[in-house]
Amino acid sequence: MSINLLDFDAKGLAGFCVEIGEKPFRARQLLRWIHRSGEVDFTAMSDLAKGLRDKLSTTAMIEPPQVTGDHTAADGTRKWLLSMGAGNGIETVFIPETNRGTLCISSQVGCALACSFCSTGRQGFNRNLTVAEIIGQLWWANKALREELDPARGRERAVTNVVMMGMGEPLANFENVVTALDLMLDDNAYGLSRRRVTVSTSGLVPAMDRLRERCPVALAVSLHAPNDALRDQLVPINRKYPIKELLAACQRYLQSAPRDFITFEYVMLDGVNDSVAHAHELVRLVRDTPCKFNLIPFNPFPNSGYRRSPADTVCRFRDVLMQAELITTVRKTRGDDIDAACGQLAGKVHDKTRRAIRVPMEVAR
Ligand code: SAH
Ligand code: SF4
Repeated sequence: MSINLLDFDAKGLAGFCVEIGEKPFRARQLLRWIHRSGEVDFTAMSDLAKGLRDKLSTTAMIEPPQVTGDHTAADGTRKWLLSMGAGNGIETVFIPETNRGTLCISSQVGCALACSFCSTGRQGFNRNLTVAEIIGQLWWANKALREELDPARGRERAVTNVVMMGMGEPLANFENVVTALDLMLDDNAYGLSRRRVTVSTSGLVPAMDRLRERCPVALAVSLHAPNDALRDQLVPINRKYPIKELLAACQRYLQSAPRDFITFEYVMLDGVNDSVAHAHELVRLVRDTPCKFNLIPFNPFPNSGYRRSPADTVCRFRDVLMQAELITTVRKTRGDDIDAACGQLAGKVHDKTRRAIRVPMEVAR
């Protein structure tokens, strides 16, 4: 069976080279061809000996996921739908801004963690993405954006930042995500700095510790509530790893993190977690944790059972945090005309957990 070289980071590729009787340093050349040049054809890899090219053609392949949809929103946000076989699909979103371009990457088909306000969570879980499928999203975006590079718009059209905030819980697919992160950081591949790669987690405490040891990139934590009673409802994994344990893990993470703060994400749900009293409770909660807040206006989806907080409620909430000297941004909603905003990434999930049936009934109760 042919091996997909998109599944390997530098170490894996060096191992593969040795296995086929080549010197491990060939991995560096291969990485550059695959990830920097976006080459899929071994015969075009001109600085590799003909014998090696032939050997690669018979033992290996470079196979990115198949793109089945490509939409651009009025604000320039672009969304690709990628086929994951067996009728499943995931989504990748590119958000161009003046001085940077951020790619939002998915890590799983669906998600097993079932946060009540999240469209991905509502759909249930199918499977983890492979390394090739995770890094393949960056591979595609780079290729597509490079092809239409307009020098006048410069960096705006390139991926300068990656956030693992698409479909799925990245830390629940730990090994594959870490291998993909290795490639994002590798100078022979994408060469992004640790500060420009962010993993977002709903709070899988043991995996946060492992990430700190294996590959400390910037960390965003989906907090969404100032106390356990409310967080238990919104983010069910809180019942296993409650807020106190989560904040302790954040403190440990900060000792190795490339940034000296944790970003807390907080989705603003009308009448649920958005009162001034909640904001004061939040200030007390994070008193000892160096952090910034990112308030996310809730992005609705059919039968969610939630409403977006009104703009003045969000402002009042933000002001309480700011008065306590917590740096707080309100996330701009991008690409909502193409359903590319946070939590709207639905893709296509063939649910193996039956959650898609179960959860709406629980919410309805
Ligand atoms: N599983 C990870 C990363 C993916 S979700 C996590 O939960 O952190 C990325 C962010 O979008 C998370 O903060 C998540 O809580 C938020 N989100 C999910 N559904 C949303 C919705 N409908 N509206 C706004 N934000 C949402
Ligand atoms: Fe999964 Fe994150 Fe959605 Fe929760 S918010 S269900 S962890 S993708």
